[in-house]
Amino acid sequence: MEKRDVIIIGSGPAGLTAAIYAGRANLKPLVLEGVTAGGQLMITTDVENFPGFRDGINGPELMKELRAQAERFGAELEPEDVTNIELSKEKKIIWVEDETYEAKTVIIATGATANLMGLENEKRLMGRGVSACATCDGFFFTDKVICVVGGGDSAMEEALFLTRFASKVYIIHRRDQFRASKIMVQKATDNPKIEFIMDTVVEDVLGEERVTGVKLKNKVTGEISELEVSGMFVAIGHTPNTQLFKGKLTMNEKGYILTSENKSQLTATSIPGVFACGDVQDSNYRQAITAAGSGCMAALDAERYLENPQHLYRVR
Ligand code: NAP
Repeated sequence: MEKRDVIIIGSGPAGLTAAIYAGRANLKPLVLEGVTAGGQLMITTDVENFPGFRDGINGPELMKELRAQAERFGAELEPEDVTNIELSKEKKIIWVEDETYEAKTVIIATGATANLMGLENEKRLMGRGVSACATCDGFFFTDKVICVVGGGDSAMEEALFLTRFASKVYIIHRRDQFRASKIMVQKATDNPKIEFIMDTVVEDVLGEERVTGVKLKNKVTGEISELEVSGMFVAIGHTPNTQLFKGKLTMNEKGYILTSENKSQLTATSIPGVFACGDVQDSNYRQAITAAGSGCMAALDAERYLENPQHLYRVR
């Protein structure tokens, strides 16, 4: 069985930043990247808000750089999906099919996945007019007509943010009642650029190279219509990738891993020696740079724990 001081699960900005820091601390981290390595940035085109890239950088290119940077400092990356994990003992055991790894510390950086409606063209046009992140992509829709799908706080927030760029923002919601808080709905209602389309589902996303419109169905009347838009933002919630850790680590009701509120160990989980960073423990900020920041913190927490296991322990 391969033995390590640090094993990092996940390879988005959080996992790879943890790998850079753990590598530079001479901990020779192993990163189990997952078969679809790189996280959400792999489905993002231009990233213009990651500090240090004045002219922006392509999402996959940024991940390639982060990967190479982690390898430069001795991190080993394996494109494997973890199939099982045992965290309760001092030595953590990780399975990849029949292969096992033992680690003194584990850093969980498996991220979250934006929920999609499940339409074929929604997937095909992702990054080409379809987006799940207004903060990341809003800027590309200056003076354009776009739509946001969803009726929760995220949909309201994204729509409001997008009015800074877009000339018009439709909010398409499948019911006649919003899940969003009253205040957010009021803000959206008060914004002259926002128009609601209620009781309506998106049946298809139109466009060959880029989004040109959406096909809609009114759930009450059954009426089918087409709406011309050059962007569709899907804001129907996120799902943290925590299936593997269910019943093993303390999570909130939505499945996000709970981390410590103690300022000197912010990435500690409910099990000593297990740390979590990035979107898997953050349903709020969800940015590449905040994920990277917490990846750095997780590596520092793991390093301190290895030096003195009494220094850090679970708090919840
Ligand atoms: P959410 O509250 O779960 O809302 C998801 C919305 O998407 C719901 O309106 C839901 O419709 C709709 N939806 C789900 N699946 C769909 C599908 N397949 N097709 C079409 N519509 C679908 O998620 P969220 O808005 O991302 O918010 C998550 C949490 O973060 C919430 O607790 C929220 O309050 C919080 N948040 C707060 C703020 C803020 O306070 N500023 C901002 C963002 C998020 P139904 O209503 O019909 O189920």
